[in-house]
Amino acid sequence: MSSPATAIRHRPDIVRTASEYGTTYRMRCPCGTTGPEQAARRMAQVDLNTHVLSLPRVPAAQRCHDQARHDRRDWEPCAVCEHQMPLFDLTIPTSEEQS
Ligand SMILES: [Zn+2]
Ligand SMILES: [Zn+2]
Repeated sequence: MSSPATAIRHRPDIVRTASEYGTTYRMRCPCGTTGPEQAARRMAQVDLNTHVLSLPRVPAAQRCHDQARHDRRDWEPCAVCEHQMPLFDLTIPTSEEQS
């Protein structure tokens, strides 16, 4: 089984909802995570930050060095930059065992 860990992109956003009770703000992420309704945008921003911080950290080798160009965020591994890493520390896995 292989789990496509990069399939879901975390791009949380703050959704503003105006109702008869007033304006509320809510963090919403494409991964399905939503925050509670907040009375202030600042509070929803805290929920957003908390969600981002809860994400697993990207290994140093997969961190993006040009986020604007590669359309990556701090919490997203970058395949482009990963493949641009120098190969001096590459350990070749021995997938074939001969017995
Ligand atoms: Zn998310
Ligand atoms: Zn990159």
